[in-house]
Amino acid sequence: MRIKKGIALIDQHDKNFMYGGKFGGNFVPETLKKPIEDLTNLFEKLRKDKKFIKERNYYFENYVGAPTPFIKLENLSDHLKGAQIYAKVVSEANGGAHKIYNATVHCLIARKAGKKYIIGDTGAGYAGKMLSMAAKKFGLKCKIFMGAKDISRQKPNVDAIKKNGAIIVPVKTGSQTLVDAVSECMRYWVSNCDTTHMCVGSTVGPNIFIKICAWSTAQISRELIHQVKDEFGKLPKKMRLINCVGGGSSAMGFWNEFMDTDAEFIGVEAGGPKKSKLHAAPLTNSSKIGILHGAAQYVVQDKEGQIGLTESISAGLDYPGISPLHCYLKDARRARYTSASDEEALKAFKLVSRLENISPSLEPSHAFAEAIRLAPKLNFSDIIIVNSCGDSIKDKDIIKNKLGSYIR
Ligand SMILES: *Cc1c(COP(=O)(O)O)cnc(C)c1O
Repeated sequence: MRIKKGIALIDQHDKNFMYGGKFGGNFVPETLKKPIEDLTNLFEKLRKDKKFIKERNYYFENYVGAPTPFIKLENLSDHLKGAQIYAKVVSEANGGAHKIYNATVHCLIARKAGKKYIIGDTGAGYAGKMLSMAAKKFGLKCKIFMGAKDISRQKPNVDAIKKNGAIIVPVKTGSQTLVDAVSECMRYWVSNCDTTHMCVGSTVGPNIFIKICAWSTAQISRELIHQVKDEFGKLPKKMRLINCVGGGSSAMGFWNEFMDTDAEFIGVEAGGPKKSKLHAAPLTNSSKIGILHGAAQYVVQDKEGQIGLTESISAGLDYPGISPLHCYLKDARRARYTSASDEEALKAFKLVSRLENISPSLEPSHAFAEAIRLAPKLNFSDIIIVNSCGDSIKDKDIIKNKLGSYIR
């Protein structure tokens, strides 16, 4: 398996929408085929439309707040005595994380399609919060599908979604969590697609949703490649781009523009608590290929092939699957994947927030944990850039509980 140069990664699929012949595809019921085909046709037209690109750029600058900062972490670098460490502070984007790029683009597409309603799924509630935010901004009526179990344990996000004027649809089937929320959302879309647009919150799901999401988050590396060239005069020879991976949308966005360069990509999955056998790291743990949410991918599963239980301190990474794009990058050896435990992520959060003026949420703290392991083994000429893709404020209760105090 080999990544092709000069072709956008999202377009490197075959006629069945599979990457590397093995990952992705559209494994959906017959009733979903037509709405997916319509959305595919619309998006392929829009992404070539100069006026649409201009509109996207306008809202990225004037609503999301692009470009987000690129800063040197001098204190952390001095402390670890090895590589020079930098951060792309994506948490400065409106809403405090990268999910706003995808949510914004989906709202723009919905408007172009003449749809008045937008729906989306959410697990821990961040995807729902961001979509309800963007829906409010763009005047769309919004429904968020959320597992009944998640509703009861994610109250702050539930409140935020309601405050943004969206309706929460409780999903009471199956495990009453994200997996069921996605299925229910897709079912609703089939019967309402004439008036309603659907958003999937990461680079997962049927192919078109992977494409739209990766195309949206690519804004991160479009900014970064200029910022890096400004800082160093050219692209540094030895450069590592480290990103946490849940569904994989922030990592795809962080790496996209560097795909044909020598930059090394490192994805960090959620290893879960040290004492537990459970994790949310299908790539690190050589999980088997399975079908999840309409696409083939490496997925955490039990011996019978049922979707397996996962565990992680970080809600955003607690997902049994992983984007088919990352499966492709792994098998083609273009990216390397590892994991960090709950404890390592907490330790990394503590060190970074003590030494620097940034406060990464628990997801990017996994990426910082790998940077902290790696930096002392490298030299001053080695550059590490971490995507600090979320702000810790959302994790304040967990951090306070685990570390005894929380200071942002
Ligand atoms: C949702 C989320 C993630 C995980 O999703 P990806 O699609 O892998 O990016 C990571 N970080 C933050 C801050 C999130 O909110």
